[in-house]
Amino acid sequence: METKRDELVTSLKGVGSGTANALQELGIITLEDLVMTFPYRHEDFRLKNLAETAHNERVTVEGRVESEPSLLFLGKNKSRLQVRLLAGQHLIKAVFFNQAYLKTKIIPGSVITVTGKWDRGRQVINVSTFSAGPKTDQQDFEPVYSLKGTISQKTFRKFMRQALDEVNGYLVDVLPKSIRETYRLPDISSALEGIHFPQNAEHSKDARRRFVYEELLIFQLKMQAIKKARKEQNVGNSVAFNNDLVKKLIESLPYELTDAQKRVVNEICRDLKEPYRMNRLLQGDVGSGKTVVAAICLYAAITAGYQGALMAPTEILAEQHASSLDDWLTPIGVKIALLTGSTKAKARRVVLENLEAGNIDLLIGTHALIQPDVSFKNLGLVITDEQHRFGVEQRRVLKEKGEDPDVLFMTATPIPRTLAITAFGEMDVSVIDEMPAGRKKIETHWMKQDQLHKLIVRLKKELANGRQAYIICPLIEESEKLDVQNAVDVYNMMATDLGKDYSVGLMHGRLHPYEKEQVMRDFSEGKVQVLVSTTVVEVGVNVPNATFMIILDAERFGLAQLHQLRGRVGRGEHQSYCILLADPKSEEGKERMISMTETNDGFALAEKDLELRGPGDFFGRKQSGLPEFKVADLVHDYRALNTAKVDAESLLNSDSFWQSEEMEGLRNILINSKALDGERID
Ligand code: ADP
Ligand code: MG
Repeated sequence: METKRDELVTSLKGVGSGTANALQELGIITLEDLVMTFPYRHEDFRLKNLAETAHNERVTVEGRVESEPSLLFLGKNKSRLQVRLLAGQHLIKAVFFNQAYLKTKIIPGSVITVTGKWDRGRQVINVSTFSAGPKTDQQDFEPVYSLKGTISQKTFRKFMRQALDEVNGYLVDVLPKSIRETYRLPDISSALEGIHFPQNAEHSKDARRRFVYEELLIFQLKMQAIKKARKEQNVGNSVAFNNDLVKKLIESLPYELTDAQKRVVNEICRDLKEPYRMNRLLQGDVGSGKTVVAAICLYAAITAGYQGALMAPTEILAEQHASSLDDWLTPIGVKIALLTGSTKAKARRVVLENLEAGNIDLLIGTHALIQPDVSFKNLGLVITDEQHRFGVEQRRVLKEKGEDPDVLFMTATPIPRTLAITAFGEMDVSVIDEMPAGRKKIETHWMKQDQLHKLIVRLKKELANGRQAYIICPLIEESEKLDVQNAVDVYNMMATDLGKDYSVGLMHGRLHPYEKEQVMRDFSEGKVQVLVSTTVVEVGVNVPNATFMIILDAERFGLAQLHQLRGRVGRGEHQSYCILLADPKSEEGKERMISMTETNDGFALAEKDLELRGPGDFFGRKQSGLPEFKVADLVHDYRALNTAKVDAESLLNSDSFWQSEEMEGLRNILINSKALDGERID
């Protein structure tokens, strides 16, 4: 037993084997485990003035008893005890339910302290905690832990108190004094005391500030160490591309690249040339022009004698990419092949043979690219479009199809900075933060559901002008079947309404891949003017003549998704419109609709989304790559996150970090993780 903190909880008074088991259920075995189990909130027992207390708020007051307590039995084991209390200037009632035994303890003329919910209208406190006499020994802040099983809050607090006293003085502080002094952070003992049993609000705040910083600093140290290790390991190819050829391609494009596109092309190409393996995220709002950036970089790798791969989440998107890249690259001699789930067996065999022989320079496709029998001759660059659509595993497999190929992930989901440097902390990030010139702002309106018929009139006008439209059906999370049914219903309605003059198409997840393709193709060739669809069209589809989008039950979508959907229009020269039909019930829902009408900026919406829904929901279920922080909160602690990032970088590059004694704690955490080998496990 090296130190007190490794001592088992059974060394505490009152902890027998039963309690020890219950604690173990909570992941608590040693005293250190115990003291590192933080409360999720504190009960506030500070005395408050009732004049400043809101209705239904919990409040603690002292008051003089002004009447005999009256007791009323309401049935078996049920009672109500009531007394008049003068609390400051307020003559109020204190009501105790099912605490009949207190009757004898409440003596007229004496002072008592009560805590409970304040009913402002009726001037009544519904008492949950009582003590005779003025407030004295009661702690101002009582910790509340997330417990399960048989242990009560009270017992747990008792163990915590004991454990803190035991370990006091034995704890090693991983945060060196120099850092603590810089930010005026409490040392470990004071911080632990403050996180569990704060003396006052300040104490609690400082304690939290310390643990937030510590947690984020350690996280950033790991991320930066991984990044550094990967670069130093020097595995990867130095892709010596032909600059002149790349320039020629750029000059041959039908438009000039935006400055942001030029900048990210440079960032990526510089990475290609370096001998380490590129691991980069490219973020750019919908329509910012990521495809052409991908094409240029893939071409660069090809001019250096490598093969490239571009993976998209849907067949439609893969096809669309193949067709764009075909326009740009085939004329300059690049051999492109498409591989998807619906590629016929024979054609597939031919592709695979040619790929392995090196006759194909660029393979574009879906998940089909990561099947075991797909092998490249010399894969140098892998690009994944809409990376959030792929799981971590799929991305890894594709990467392993070559000898340490450079990897670029593209995403149209603008990710708030705090999430980006956390979820992708070990990656480099490039951002296209500028739209191609001449793009018109998509006009967005929010209307009530019952306005649909009026809206159809407007839609007809748009169609009469030769434009096309999307109608997006409500999303029904629980049931794909209902989703489809919904789309079919809306389709039937639209076909009745518009079918005489226009062709209406239907698109949903249950269609066969070839049916989907057919509908999409008809839509993009203008044979279908109105496309009724579920969110299948969310990703990447490009039909510049489509200028009108109606989103039904829009309140069911998150901001990020609404923005993605909206990005399907506004892709051509004509003014585009997006109409949100929604009757949101919650304030949050209303706020989302308003945000959509106010801004077209995906990053601003992403920040808003994060604020409204929190980081857990931001990326959708699981696979987020977001670590779980114990104390830190990515919405509110972004300043600490930035500070920790900057500090981690400079620490890793300093000699003192690797040598000085006070850094030992932090250093050991790094050494014991796999970060120094360039591996991320969190
Ligand atoms: P996303 O970033 O959403 O994938 P795309 O790559 O599909 O966007 O590009 C959207 C549209 O903008 C396409 O029609 C594309 O040809 C066009 N585009 C891309 N870059 C430029 C540019 N620099 N100038 C004009 N149009 C551009
Ligand atoms: Mg795209």
